Amino acid sequence: MTVERNVVVSIEDIRALIFECKTKDCARLTLLLSAITKFPDKCPTCGVSWLTEPRTVSGERVPTGIKSFIEALDIIRKNPPANVQVLFEFAEPLDK
Ligand SMILES: [Zn+2]
Repeated sequence: MTVERNVVVSIEDIRALIFECKTKDCARLTLLLSAITKFPDKCPTCGVSWLTEPRTVSGERVPTGIKSFIEALDIIRKNPPANVQVLFEFAEPLDK
């Protein structure tokens, strides 16, 4: 028999977000969700832009969506919908 265990959290359960720079061995920036009103523009350690948006052939910016997602979390936290709750489900980490 296989038992699957999951962890379910709501937006209200999220205490902080961790932004991890993809530059090798650089930095992690942990911010309380209550303190985030906009996406961090760049890595505080190496300075690489965290908001580089790809461009189309004609030069138009293609939104990545992550900036909108992070800013939406702040909006949802301050003004939650009245009749529905959005939950995030994660697989429980397995002991190794
Ligand atoms: Zn960095």
